[in-house]
Amino acid sequence: MTTSTPRICIVGGGPAGLTCARVLQLQGIEVAVYDGDTAVDSRDPGGTLDLHADTGQIALADAGLTEAFLAQARPEGRAMTRTDHQGTVLARFAPAPGDTAAPEIDRGRLRRLLHDHVRPGTVRWGHRLVRATPLERGAHRLEFANGAVVRADLLIGADGAWSTIRPLVTDAAPEYLGVSFLDVRFDDVDTRHPELAGTIGDGHLFANDNDGRAVILQRNADRVVRGYLAFRAVRDWHVAAGVDLTDRESVRAHLAGTFAHWSPSLRAVIADSDADYVPRSFWALPAPLAWGHVPGVTLIGDAAHLMAPFGGHGANLAMLDGAELALAVGVALARGGSSTPGQSSALDEAVAAHEAEMFARSAGPATGSNEALAQFFATTSPDAPHLPPDHAQEHHDYLARAAARRRERARRAGGGTDV
Ligand SMILES: Cc1cc2nc3c(=O)[nH]c(=O)nc-3n(C[C@H](O)[C@H](O)[C@H](O)COP(=O)(O)OP(=O)(O)OC[C@H]3O[C@@H](n4cnc5c(N)ncnc54)[C@H](O)[C@@H]3O)c2cc1C
Repeated sequence: MTTSTPRICIVGGGPAGLTCARVLQLQGIEVAVYDGDTAVDSRDPGGTLDLHADTGQIALADAGLTEAFLAQARPEGRAMTRTDHQGTVLARFAPAPGDTAAPEIDRGRLRRLLHDHVRPGTVRWGHRLVRATPLERGAHRLEFANGAVVRADLLIGADGAWSTIRPLVTDAAPEYLGVSFLDVRFDDVDTRHPELAGTIGDGHLFANDNDGRAVILQRNADRVVRGYLAFRAVRDWHVAAGVDLTDRESVRAHLAGTFAHWSPSLRAVIADSDADYVPRSFWALPAPLAWGHVPGVTLIGDAAHLMAPFGGHGANLAMLDGAELALAVGVALARGGSSTPGQSSALDEAVAAHEAEMFARSAGPATGSNEALAQFFATTSPDAPHLPPDHAQEHHDYLARAAARRRERARRAGGGTDV
């Protein structure tokens, strides 16, 4: 590789990193992606998420993957039923026919879709970054757990919540939001769990009490329902409670106490998971978060703005970050020719400008999502359970913001074509 072709390395093959790699390659730019997973499907990817017209779907369009996405997406998956802990229905939402403002897709399918559209060999699986060391002129030395060492002229940290690259640009670190949850899964729901399947229909069930507990269930593809049993708790709550997380009966006994005042049918669901109860917790970076540009390195996605998932912005913003950074890099390389990062180059200027836009774009969703989580899990609130957002209005807003974003891009491109 010559100095006129900066070596671009992305660490992290999630939605942010893979979208970035795809959009770079569409512009003829070489890139390598390093991920600690051993394969695209070596780890349980988690449940479903919705891709919004104004963020995730713009990124998909940049990646030339709109049709491929829509072929797998489930617009009907946006249906929502909201109940209290007794199962009393408080609100329902069903998307109108043809509403593609925020279709659902399983995370595993999304990852596979993005991965299948980068050039073979782009993603170096089994490469867990352990250290990134600054070198001269904005370059970085990357050391991986498998012994591999590479040099990056532009290092893009798309390595998620616990980013190894983040300390190169900021001291900010994720903070625990005081809410933990257990992943649950129900297989072959229409046959094995017909009552649950009927309650959820094509979409989601959100149930919560006024004391910081919630059950969130979502229909995925392939007749699977996945969900979260969430509650306010100290970190490592299971240690103090004496719960053996490897023993489903031990977890069930604990949950029977935690959700004792819930309706019999919701308690039956809680006790009925077909898979192990997998413990997780909600964390977020301080928001809004910004840093001064550091030559030769940047962050995108959760690495840059980890937020509570109450708003469903994380993957959407991660993909838009990836696409917009890739487009900015493409323009800079086309204009800057032999620029390499680290010397106020065109490339560094473009990355810094992208960071400023990313900070502005993610600030509102991050603070809003963190507040929404705090509200949803508020204890002893006289107002709880909180009314759901107006989903019809939300969908309308996604479409309006998408049109505005496309107009703004066309304006910047000097009246160029819409994307
Ligand atoms: C319960 C829950 C529900 C959510 N629901 C939604 C939703 O409905 N909609 C939505 O938009 N978002 C949702 N999110 C958020 C969403 O999952 C994230 O925002 C999104 O995955 C971020 O993408 P990313 O590419 O930045 O990071 P990640 O998806 O975390 O990908 C990071 C990648 O980096 C790799 N990696 C990490 N460390 C290293 C290392 N040291 N070396 C090499 N590779 C490394 C990992 O293997 C991984 O592949 C939810 C999150 C949670 C917890």
